[in-house]
Amino acid sequence: MTEKHHSSENDRPAEKHHPSQKQRPSQKHRSRHIGDRRLAPESLMMSYGYDPALSEGSVKCPIFQTSTFVFESAEDGKAFFELAYGLREQEADESMGLIYSRLNNPDLEVLEDRLTLWDDAEAAAVFDSGMGAISTTALTFLRPGDRLLYSEPIYGGTQYLFSHILPEFGIETESFRAAVGPEVEEEAVRAAAARGNLRMIMLETPANPTNFLVDIERVCRVARELSTPENRILVAVDNTFLGPVFQHPLELGADLVIYSLTKYVGGHSDVIAGACLGSAEDIKRIKGMRTFLGSMAGPWTGWLLMRSLETLKLRMTAQARGARVIADWLLDHPRVKRVYYPGHLKRGDPDYDTFRRQCLSAGGMVSFDVDGGEAGAFQVLNRLQLIKLAVSLGGTESLAQHPASMTHSDIPAAEQRVMGITDSMIRLSVGVEDPEDLLADLEQALEGLPD
Ligand SMILES: *Cc1c(COP(=O)(O)O)cnc(C)c1O
Repeated sequence: MTEKHHSSENDRPAEKHHPSQKQRPSQKHRSRHIGDRRLAPESLMMSYGYDPALSEGSVKCPIFQTSTFVFESAEDGKAFFELAYGLREQEADESMGLIYSRLNNPDLEVLEDRLTLWDDAEAAAVFDSGMGAISTTALTFLRPGDRLLYSEPIYGGTQYLFSHILPEFGIETESFRAAVGPEVEEEAVRAAAARGNLRMIMLETPANPTNFLVDIERVCRVARELSTPENRILVAVDNTFLGPVFQHPLELGADLVIYSLTKYVGGHSDVIAGACLGSAEDIKRIKGMRTFLGSMAGPWTGWLLMRSLETLKLRMTAQARGARVIADWLLDHPRVKRVYYPGHLKRGDPDYDTFRRQCLSAGGMVSFDVDGGEAGAFQVLNRLQLIKLAVSLGGTESLAQHPASMTHSDIPAAEQRVMGITDSMIRLSVGVEDPEDLLADLEQALEGLPD
């Protein structure tokens, strides 16, 4: 939003009433158009929101590795704090100056501006992890007595936060299953609302690790219908698996979009970070909570993610292409019992229409069941050579893991089965390697399985 780098423009007259004005980048650096043509997000990832003139002409946004920022005058410091702590309304042509890196830092601000472009969001807040984004967002909007409804399966850390930690703070939480079809999902929302105080709905779609879907548009429509002026039911969508390139929940009516930036956006398995996007008003509240929980990311993380965003579409497109090759191949393999891949949905499947309407691609995640239960899955995982045995996903290298005993192991086995997580399931995150090389690796790993 605001965006002020170190300024060498000492010769400008001081502007006492709008002290931060002189630090602003020119509008040229925030334009999304050439003439009438609206530029694609990937075209803007190298430049948007950054004014080289404010950083000695550096073509790249430098790493502002600093905890605090010098005020040019005491009046500036006072004005910045008034805005930071909401002591007065921001004037139309005023932006908050840089204060202290827990409140704001140019690497985070430029990154946040760039992130908004993919989802066409008004604002974004970046965190030091995906869990930081989820927990800070939950604590911003939920209070004792409020109800939270979420789809299952959901990321293991989110599941633990929702089912164990939030209830200790007096927040009622309940879940419904994904892949049951839009009508049943709608019923789950109505039933939760009928129990009272439904404040937030959190969806994860495609769900981890089954790739099951939830109809975002349908859930948002019901949530809006059931909202009252006193109680707005917020819908947040964890868009880590397909977003921000292949799915846009805000367009479908969601209030908030959440990311583990650790995954596709970071994309190189070398950084932990998260984000939440939405309206300027909601993100302002979330950033207020972030300031006091201290869950913001640091400047080095911001810089790494800006670098990653430049190749995001290239990487995700290559990963989705590879996943398609692998999913199709697995479908025909005699030792593979089932493939969980949205690109294989057929007419008549409860998720089919949802996939057509809300996903621009089937993405780069493929799960599959092998013969031989847990022992069979372990044998395959232990034999893989090019594909690494590790949790996490979305990076340039392909990774495989066993959800039942690893990422989702704190969910009791019986509940895992209800969610569709089997003991023979392997979750594969497809990287940017040659898909044929990945097939060679999978082929030799599956060969060892008994009939
Ligand atoms: C990894 C992940 C998270 C948590 O993100 P961290 O960056 O590890 O905190 C949340 N949701 C989904 C879908 C994830 O894959």
